[in-house]
Amino acid sequence: MPEGDTIVWTARRLDASLSGKVLTRTDFRVPSLATTDLAGRESLPVATYGKHLFHRLSGGVTIHSHLKMEGRWSTLVAPHAAPPREAKRLETQVRRAERGHTTRALLYVSDALAVASKLGLLDVIPTSEEQAIIGRLGPDIMAESWPETGLDAALDNLRGQPQRLLGEALLDQRNLAGLGTFWISEMLFVHGVLPWLTVAEVPEETLRAVLDDARRLMLASATTGVQSSTGRAGDGETKRVHARSGLPCVRCTDTVRVAMIGEAGRERTLFSCPTCQGGYAPNDDRRPQRPLVERPAGGRRRV
Ligand SMILES: [Zn+2]
Repeated sequence: MPEGDTIVWTARRLDASLSGKVLTRTDFRVPSLATTDLAGRESLPVATYGKHLFHRLSGGVTIHSHLKMEGRWSTLVAPHAAPPREAKRLETQVRRAERGHTTRALLYVSDALAVASKLGLLDVIPTSEEQAIIGRLGPDIMAESWPETGLDAALDNLRGQPQRLLGEALLDQRNLAGLGTFWISEMLFVHGVLPWLTVAEVPEETLRAVLDDARRLMLASATTGVQSSTGRAGDGETKRVHARSGLPCVRCTDTVRVAMIGEAGRERTLFSCPTCQGGYAPNDDRRPQRPLVERPAGGRRRV
């Protein structure tokens, strides 16, 4: 699930391949950008805020994207710039990206290209308009300024909504930016807090600890590129409750549950253990839930 950590990691990857180089060709596959051509502009460092990527280019232009559920930016070395034994494989990958029906953007520089697929949002804006987007968001949990000012501002925002469900308040990017269902499910489990408590029901020290731990682990995940709440990277070892509904809790013998949270039409899924977190979601019918099965593509489906 792309959350603040994945966004920072993605920005670093894009920078490593593109920063300081001139775009030799661009290809946008969304109708609103069909005629946009950014060739000739230099790729500047990619900025992030919460779940937003701001890929700045020379001339005051920014490629603004949001990965939503399944989006990603990946980078490939141009086949002609790779050792001969790798060129064939890279040619196949480039061709696949260029023909892919989920491809939304291709950015070429002399020795590499960046490929965006399944993006939730893609736009090209004046760099001067980034602030208008950021201004609608709460403090960024990944930002350097988080320990000094971000954490307290986020806590104030949460405290201002005492009757709101905690899980819903944490998902609201206007309160704080960067958290999503993975980190909220994982951190509330670690601290034994049910996501369906109201904000007022959770002590300040607990909220502080949840956010501190989330940031610490997200910074680590942004470095490794592996979203892990456990510090481990092995298959099935990176999480405790997220997407584990119907499976036994790693701490007790109870079964992990999934339930919806949020306003009608904008619901998200959160995962929790009724024993470790002291209860069920109010809308949980308590019937058995079947495990989710991971698909090779990284998506998942119910069986
Ligand atoms: Zn448990």
